[in-house]
Amino acid sequence: MLKGKIPGKETIFTTMSQLAREHQAINLGQGFPDYDPDQTLINLVNEAMNNGYNQYAPAMGYLPLRESIAQKSKSLYHCEIDPQQEVCITPGGTYAIYTALTTVLHPGDEVIVFEPAYDSYVPDILINGAKPVFIPLSYPDFSIDWDRVRNAISGKTKMIMINSPHNPTSSVLNSSDLKELSEIVNRHDLYVLSDEVYEPIIFDGMKHESVLKYPEIFKKSFVVFSFGKVYHCTGWKTGYCIAPKSLMKEFAAIHQFNAFCCFHLVQVALATFMKNEKTFSSLSNFYQKKRDLLSSQLTGAGFKALPSHGSFFQLFDYSSLSDEDDLSFAKNMTIHAGVGAIPVSPFYSQKSNVHALRFCFAKKDETLVAAGERLKNYFRN
Ligand code: GLN
Repeated sequence: MLKGKIPGKETIFTTMSQLAREHQAINLGQGFPDYDPDQTLINLVNEAMNNGYNQYAPAMGYLPLRESIAQKSKSLYHCEIDPQQEVCITPGGTYAIYTALTTVLHPGDEVIVFEPAYDSYVPDILINGAKPVFIPLSYPDFSIDWDRVRNAISGKTKMIMINSPHNPTSSVLNSSDLKELSEIVNRHDLYVLSDEVYEPIIFDGMKHESVLKYPEIFKKSFVVFSFGKVYHCTGWKTGYCIAPKSLMKEFAAIHQFNAFCCFHLVQVALATFMKNEKTFSSLSNFYQKKRDLLSSQLTGAGFKALPSHGSFFQLFDYSSLSDEDDLSFAKNMTIHAGVGAIPVSPFYSQKSNVHALRFCFAKKDETLVAAGERLKNYFRN
């Protein structure tokens, strides 16, 4: 018999991507670029393959890549991490989140989760026999009400999960949020899972507030990053987790009996590629232009843009176009207008009344324009 610990629902990303394929819709749903990684990176992967990196990597990852990550953490966040003992390369960010939660959680533990929440968080908590305690992000800016967090903490609270830049709302945490978090986790001795997979994709001159910048939080944290999101290679499923030595030891113990290690030659290529800081620092500008292009297209079709401060998503309110619930509206739009997007309600535990869809702008400019044209034709005629 199946264990049935998590509801056997298909993820919304699978559902909507499949629907888009069936109807030849332009897929602005699931978050992945429709362009290739930098040619330099592709060449480095080819070189690594030709240079014989075709067998298992070390379980924690190719050491020079972990060293490049440590160097980046130092230069961006003044955080000194030990590449040997505090970094683990993982098959994607989602796997790192699952492993971190499995490292910490025991049945009966409570985890604070802000809603809307990325759709893997709650199943990861449930499968470990723990209980999510939900706190809604405040509408319309999707910020955290820290008094609600303080009120939600019980003797069973084990961990707080944060995510900035946030998926699906594109909100970002600021330094005062991190100070509030620091005060709470220290007072109650809590662990933190910080999902920072959209780390460098942040707009309008804002700066990413990584947990790595805050030693008083980092000492109890697992911080998760993604190469797929940052370097346009989501299909390579390569990310990493940074955690203090004592936590990473437990994380690695689980990882070695699960994936054991990750795709070797991609790690070899990334170790060299990421040394060039420009590959990272150019992303805000690159994506901000795409955000603005998508926004002008969708506004022209009658959607109302909600602010997008980071990630490669933006929420658009469709109240003036339809009264439908967001799942029906997203499905109908995919089938009839030929543009796919992601409804927001699957990111909530309870029924939500959000009349907004999440659109991904990690697409070629011509894709964004073509999607805009389809939507204008459909909703304006
Ligand atoms: N993170 C991606 C998104 O939010 C999807 C990844 C997945 O499909 N599991 O769209």
